[in-house]
Amino acid sequence: MERTILHCDCNSFFASVECVDYPSYRNVPMAVAGDVEARHGIILAKNELAKQYGIKTAETVWSAKQKCKDLVLVPPHYEKYAYFSGMVRRIYERYTDLVEPFGMDEAWLDVTNSRALFGDGYQIAESIRKAVKEELGITVSVGVSFNKIFAKLGSDYKKPDAVTVISRENYKDIVYPLPVDSLLFIGKQTALSLASCNIRTIGELAATSPAFLRSRFGKVGDLLFSYANGEENSPVASIYQKEDAKSVGNGITFRHDITTKAEWKLALYSLSEDVAYRLRKQGMVCSTVSVTVKTPMLKTFSRQKPISPPTDISREIAAKALEILESSFSVGSPIRMLTITAMSLARKDTLTEQIGFFDQEDVEKREKASRLEDTVDGIRSRYGHGAMVLGSTLGNTIGIEEGAAKRRQKGKQSESDDKK
Ligand SMILES: [Mg+2]
Repeated sequence: MERTILHCDCNSFFASVECVDYPSYRNVPMAVAGDVEARHGIILAKNELAKQYGIKTAETVWSAKQKCKDLVLVPPHYEKYAYFSGMVRRIYERYTDLVEPFGMDEAWLDVTNSRALFGDGYQIAESIRKAVKEELGITVSVGVSFNKIFAKLGSDYKKPDAVTVISRENYKDIVYPLPVDSLLFIGKQTALSLASCNIRTIGELAATSPAFLRSRFGKVGDLLFSYANGEENSPVASIYQKEDAKSVGNGITFRHDITTKAEWKLALYSLSEDVAYRLRKQGMVCSTVSVTVKTPMLKTFSRQKPISPPTDISREIAAKALEILESSFSVGSPIRMLTITAMSLARKDTLTEQIGFFDQEDVEKREKASRLEDTVDGIRSRYGHGAMVLGSTLGNTIGIEEGAAKRRQKGKQSESDDKK
């Protein structure tokens, strides 16, 4: 059955919530901005009047002030936004239990099985748009389509307070003329590389041979092709889908957004060290690795892959994490936070049978690697984490050591929680 997917986007969410709270903000150019001193000194959201000055989300406060010197700046109140975000979600959940949030202000809804009750995709989108506006005083734009990527495009296409339907019949007319970077996850860097191959619109991308895209972009090439052709078919998560309770994860928020593959590697190898250390300490191995990326606009997405044989070795986890990132994210797009999670855990001592399937030489090599990492664990537990650090993490500027120390602290916390 053809799916009906909605993507709902609360317009200028943070600024809209502030305007509901303080209606006088509606009469002045106003923006919600992060701390001017630190790395967060960017415009997070702006109201309609500020938009008329050409102020853009994600530009620096400094540059926004150049455009409008009377701009009223409001610091973000995340708890308030989370509360509103929850209220908006309750409205979505009247229509379906397949609701997958994307940041605080966006969500995908699969309403395929709700059509019999509530009407077609357009009608459901309209009732959601009206309900959010009437009940909460903020506006949403909604995209309706047959996959998540085009639904997302639809919510960007016309805003604020609008519904756009991108169907099998009209998608070529609507989507093909748009620039490639209007597709989710295509950043400036990828758009530039595509432009150097004379691919500027989604239509041009859709018409490019998958083999060429693969040769140029690796696994991301396949993704680009399927996105442009409307073949993306990932499901919308259910509200009942809970994270695997048994997992070991570690994340770091970088001192500055990272963009290069060298920085990816540095971060992933450092994060994996901690994950593997905690697995070994619990006598566990994982057979799934998950990577979560948070962008500077606080959008989060996760991808996961199986890892075989099950492992507690940091460089194997890191290599898998790198593979995941390479196949799902383009170099050059800024990353604010990265998390690696080891999932599908099992006790190492119950796995002998499974390991028997693998090459003996391989088993010995892996045993050696695991023992080496155990030795490192031993040295660290006696002399502190700083006694042995990855050579490559020394002198980096993205905040790895700071993060590692914090994570270790957090790890201790949850371990002692476990004992309670
Ligand atoms: Mg929004």
